[in-house]
Amino acid sequence: MLQAAAYVVCAYLTGMRDCEVQAMRRGCLTLARSEDGTVSRHRVRSTAYKGKGGRGASAEWVTIEPVAHAIGVLEQLTRRAAVAHGLDTLWPVLSVTRSSKPHVSAEIVRQLNAYRDHLNRLFGTEEAPAIPPGPDGKPWRITTRQFRRTIAWHIANRSFGTVAGMIQYKHASVAAFEGYAGSSASGFRAEVEAQRRLGQIDDLLEYFDRRRGGADLGGPAGLRVARTLDETATELGPLPPMIADRSRLRTMLASLARTLHVGPLADCFFDPATALCLKRVTDAAADRPLTALCEPTRCPNACIAQHHRPVWERSADEARMLLREKRLPGLQRAALQQEVDRIEGVLARIAPPPVRSAVKGEEAWDRGE
Ligand code: SF4
Repeated sequence: MLQAAAYVVCAYLTGMRDCEVQAMRRGCLTLARSEDGTVSRHRVRSTAYKGKGGRGASAEWVTIEPVAHAIGVLEQLTRRAAVAHGLDTLWPVLSVTRSSKPHVSAEIVRQLNAYRDHLNRLFGTEEAPAIPPGPDGKPWRITTRQFRRTIAWHIANRSFGTVAGMIQYKHASVAAFEGYAGSSASGFRAEVEAQRRLGQIDDLLEYFDRRRGGADLGGPAGLRVARTLDETATELGPLPPMIADRSRLRTMLASLARTLHVGPLADCFFDPATALCLKRVTDAAADRPLTALCEPTRCPNACIAQHHRPVWERSADEARMLLREKRLPGLQRAALQQEVDRIEGVLARIAPPPVRSAVKGEEAWDRGE
């Protein structure tokens, strides 16, 4: 189980392919230290195979601390088996008596799925397994390719999200892109871009469904986006969208989806001509939304929706808490009060949609009449 867990950490957080993970050997980790002795880079040396022929070529991945920790655990866990098999791999078959096979290889898939069952037994129930089931209700079948794809999806679509243990995806992606995974030869950038496109259309379909459910859209781009979604719904005809042709809907929304970049405070329907964040940088080559400089209540590209509510509510609570401080200087108090008013204005625009009851009129609405 521990070997499978270490595999998940390594494969997921580095963006390495299975063959690259399994080519890791003892001593593959090096730590670069800055002058004051703090670790500045965790580097993993392994073998890249894509386009390098059967033998592959040595390459270096830059990664984050949890991977270094997993490698340390693996080095201890596998020492005895590696010696017994006469290998320096980090992935020997641990049982040296029962198996003559030295390297874990494709067997890792069985181990990963056994690990899934183990987690479900420990932390889940039959109704709510710890690892969510597949769409058919059966246990999700884990394959080695899913890790690289999933991290690529998160880096592309939710880079501000967090992996367990509060590691930011942004952090994982900055490190990954510094090493071999960031080179065009590794194909990881292309994977991230492919996942970005898939994520954009899925996110916009969610917008579409929520809008059909009565959701309001706030922020300066709210009206523009709402209008496009409403027009699409009208064009689609009276069928409820889940029954209507989803692939036609995808085509109809494709050009708007290409501009969508999800953000923590607002989603950006990016138009470089009006992007406020780009006006604040001197780099003429900047052609993507700069979410760290986002001005969600001022930029014409910013759309604030229901799913942003928790973050805005948290900021309002924090500002209100600070306002309770009695010795606050007048100017600071006025600024905080202004901030609370601004946030309340935002929240008022994205009030939760009314709870729908099964009254006649709404059933008709559901049918699109
Ligand atoms: S300021 Fe925000 S909404 Fe506007 S373009 Fe930049 S990232 Fe997008």
